[in-house]
Formats: sequence, structure tokens, C-alpha cells
Amino acid sequence: MKYVSTRGEAPVLAFDDVLLAGLAEDGGLYVPQDWPQFSTDELSSMAGMSYAQIAYRVIRPFVGGTIADSDLEKMVEETYAGFGHVAVAPLKQIGSNDWLMELFQGPTLAFKDFALQLVGRMFAHVLAARGERVTIVGATSGDTGSAAIEACRDRENIDIFILFPEGRVSPVQQRQMTTVDSANVHAIAVTGTFDDCQDLVKEMFNDTQFRKAQNLSAVNSINWARVMAQIVYYVVAAVRLGAPSRPVSFAVPTGNFGNVFAGWAAWKCGLPIDRLVVGTNSNDILFRFFETGEMKMAGVEPTLSPSMDIQVSSNFERLLFDMLDGDGAAVRDWIAAFRISGAVSVDDARLAGAREKISASRLDDDGTRRVIREIYETTGELLDPHSAIGVDAARQCRGNKEVPMVTLATAHPAKFPDAVKAATGIHPQLPERMSDLFDRNEKFDTLPNDIAAVQDFVRRAVEGHS
Ligand SMILES: *Cc1c(COP(=O)(O)O)cnc(C)c1O
Repeated sequence: MKYVSTRGEAPVLAFDDVLLAGLAEDGGLYVPQDWPQFSTDELSSMAGMSYAQIAYRVIRPFVGGTIADSDLEKMVEETYAGFGHVAVAPLKQIGSNDWLMELFQGPTLAFKDFALQLVGRMFAHVLAARGERVTIVGATSGDTGSAAIEACRDRENIDIFILFPEGRVSPVQQRQMTTVDSANVHAIAVTGTFDDCQDLVKEMFNDTQFRKAQNLSAVNSINWARVMAQIVYYVVAAVRLGAPSRPVSFAVPTGNFGNVFAGWAAWKCGLPIDRLVVGTNSNDILFRFFETGEMKMAGVEPTLSPSMDIQVSSNFERLLFDMLDGDGAAVRDWIAAFRISGAVSVDDARLAGAREKISASRLDDDGTRRVIREIYETTGELLDPHSAIGVDAARQCRGNKEVPMVTLATAHPAKFPDAVKAATGIHPQLPERMSDLFDRNEKFDTLPNDIAAVQDFVRRAVEGHS
């Protein structure tokens, strides 16, 4: 199994190199050269297996022997044993043929744990085999930071530094980052905005000398390994609901397009998926694209579903590569045109091709509160705002009613208590294992929005325990 860049000019790499590289050298994203195929027999045999057993079988061909089978199997077992529900990703029925798949049973209560918990282990494993260490730096406006920290904590060959804007992340999100008592974890409150944090991270990467000296790395959402790990729950949901003998549809609350692209990948591998529905909030660039074929940038406004407040979707480039028949030069031209003018289109035939599988919908904050209330009244389930957008997308783009529709619930309601309370009058409780979150001691440093100060901090912290 080899991987190529969507822009066609980076070296073709094996899985372990793709894992550590993240972004391709030509600025593109790595995708498999060919999609492995899951046969009908293989899918049938998975029906009664555990989440981890299915995960091992789905992931194995993508890893392509770069991690020994026995190590991979053990890593996958360990990863999902750490989740807070024995089913790992439980399915709940919310309508006659409508289902919710709860992807929030991981350590930070959002779906990013599914990929990052495994990717953290894979990083540590590959680094140990090579005798290397890395410094991971990242900026967060909330969810990604805590999931990355939980993935990397206590791993010997990794130091992780997460920058967040002081006073601008929710109390739950902040405490999920700052109450982790591990020597290799460094949560940093920056006196500035999320954009300032992102700029500081970019500056660190652009400083070649610093980048090399610290062996900087990132675990952001364009890393192929994250998409790969997310393919698993599409397979799990489908085989639980009757695949391969009947197809299944999915509705996905979408921001950077990583999650829904994993569904596309599952379909490419032979999983019988009828429809993939992209749910957006009022930052609706993807909805407009699937309506018109034009990708057109607009401003970003804050909503109740902050993890979907995006201006552009970084993982969309992977779908574009497929829509343009794997032509890296065409992807480069398209991206360049988009950078220059902030708007670019695909032709009608290509749009129609994508729309055979993908639909999209949009929901504003009022609608989001309405759906949270309605689902609570009709089923007793509390939805977080992101998941509510998914449920609405499932309804808007239902298609064939005989096909089971699975909405991916991407966050636990207690991560967004204010929105849930406003909609239902109920304050959602954190799960038992986290109920003391607000009693734990916080540990973080506050730094000015100043690149020299941040770099100095990173250098000293890494030297301090290596
Ligand atoms: C990250 C995130 C999303 C968006 O997922 P993408 O893969 O970026 O499309 C949706 N909901 C929640 C809760 C998230 O944390």
C-alpha cells in the first residue's frame, strides 16, 4: 500500500512515512494509490465482531505491513479498551429506521478521540522503532487540543505543546487541557485570539532551524492516519445494521470534511453506502458547493457548533482529487485559482458525479436549538449542537426510507451545556469518570502573543526532561 499526494509532486510514501509527514511536501494531502477492497464475505464475517476486531481488519491493509500485525492488533485493542462504553461506538435508535452512533465515549467526549487515541500510539511506536523523538505543536479553539493532548500524554518520545487563546475557550474545554498531569504535556494560554495562536504555530514551522532542532510535528486533521481510523465506525455501523446485504446511509456534522471523507473512503473500499449527507451550520461553504458546484469563500461567524465554524475545509482536497480523476496538476490549478480569487467551480458533470453519493444541508442556531428540543421531547436523548445539525441533515436529505440512516453524534452534550440547557431546560451531566473535572488542579502557563517567548518556552521545556 502506497500513498500519493493530491497535488502529484511529492514522493510516493508508505504508511509509516505518511503518518509522520502529515502534509505532503508539495502542500498536498496523502491518499491511497489504490483503495483496498472489502469483500462481501469479509464484511459478513465482521457482523458479530467487537469494535476493536473490526478496526484491526479495516486498518490492516492501509498500514500495509509498516507496523507488525501483532503490534497493530495490540495497539487497536488498547486504544478502544480505553473508551467509556463497552460498545465503544453505541448505536441508539431515534426513529423507525433512524439511528444515532455515539462517537463521544472517548476520553475527551468528542469523535476526534477515535482517530487521535490510535494515532498517538502509532506515532510513539514508529518513533521508537526509528530511535527518534518529536515535538508536537498545535493551536486550538477547543476540541482538537484536548484530544491531541490525551493522545500524546505520557508517551516517552513525544512532547506536546497546545496553544489556546486565554479566556476564549469554554470551561470544560480548558479544563480538559489543563488538568492533565503529565510531564510531556504543555498547555499554553496565549494572551491573544485563536488566529494569533495559529500564527504562532505557523511561525514555528516556518522557522527551519527551530523546526529541525525540535523535530516539530503536528497531528492535525489532514493527517491520513486520522481519516483512516475514522473509516472503522462506518464499517461497524453498517455491518450492525445489515451490510453487506443491505446498504446504509450516514449524516455527518461537517467542518474540515475529515469525518465525512472517511465515509467516502469506506464506500470506495466496497462498503455499501447509499448516501452521505453533509450537515453544515450557517458557515455553509460546503452546502453551497454541493448546491452549485462553486466553492466560494465567505466570512466566518461564531455559532453554537464551534467545531464546524470553518471558512474552508482542508480535507475537501481529497474529494476534489477523486472528482478530478486523480489528476494532481488539475488539483494544483484549482487550489491556486481558489487562493487567488476565493472562488472556483467544478463542471456540471463532475458535480453530478459527487452528488450521486453526497447531499448537503444547512441549519442555523435557531434550528439547532429546535432540533435539540424536539429530539429530547420525542426520544429523551440530549444532543449536542453539532449532532443536532447531523440529525437535521439526515431528515432533509433522507432519500430511500427503507435504507437505515445513521447520524454520527460527534460530541457529548455536556461539552456544550449552555446550548443544551437553553434548548431543553436541562443541564447535561458529565459522565461519571469525568464528574470531578472542576475539582482537579489546573496546570498551564500563560505567555504573551510573542514568537520569541513561545519558542524559548518550548526549548526550555524540552531540554528540561530529555
Ligand atoms: C471536529 C468536529 C466536527 C467536524 O469534523 P470534520 O472532520 O472537521 O468535518 C464536528 N463536530 C465536532 C464535535 C467536532 O469536534
